[in-house]
Amino acid sequence: MSTIENPKYWAYLQASELLYYKSETQTVIQTPFTPITELIDYIYTHHPDKALSILRNPFITNYELTPICRETLKVCAKRVRIDPLFSPEVGVRHTYFNKAISNEFLNFVGRPSSLTECFELIKALTKTQKNESGYPIFAIALSQDNKILALQKNLSLISKTHHAETLLCREYFLKYRRPFPKHTRIITSLQPCRMCAAHITQMIEEPKVYYLQKDTGPFSRNTLVSHIEVQVEL
Ligand SMILES: [Zn+2]
Repeated sequence: MSTIENPKYWAYLQASELLYYKSETQTVIQTPFTPITELIDYIYTHHPDKALSILRNPFITNYELTPICRETLKVCAKRVRIDPLFSPEVGVRHTYFNKAISNEFLNFVGRPSSLTECFELIKALTKTQKNESGYPIFAIALSQDNKILALQKNLSLISKTHHAETLLCREYFLKYRRPFPKHTRIITSLQPCRMCAAHITQMIEEPKVYYLQKDTGPFSRNTLVSHIEVQVEL
């Protein structure tokens, strides 16, 4: 039997003659890697010039969207339809598995740090780091017992999903295959957008969010972290 016909969760999108397809046999709950997020990533990274036009087509999934799927779609794609029957009109051309994150800051992981030190670090990185892959936005996951769990930077010119906070969740999940510990704090240069807010609330039980700069764009209003985020001035 084909694995394509019998996965647990799948999503596809048809554009012109091509079908973009991804399936998962594992759960889609409490993971930043779902058929929807991986397909969106694939389309942005492999077809940067026509990604927006491909993503005008609806995704079709056989599962109820998780908050991460739903909010990533709102920020980076367009429409979705749930249909338990797999019924593409053209043959399967692409399947995909993306695990891209930045390994640049792995030496910071495990270091003891405080909230203030994390903000100082983010400010120092913003000044010294060149970032040709997106705006210089950095995010840190800090455990309740003051250890750096992950540090990532925005790579949104590579893929629209590659915000610093989504990459934080991916980094930790790839390493440990589980959500962050309870009460993990997210410290970031910029107020999280709704996609990142969904990642934070799905991957952390009782999170706290601290950011330096307010985002005046529409995607940072009424997010899943609006009630728990705090702007910090240094
Ligand atoms: Zn974001």
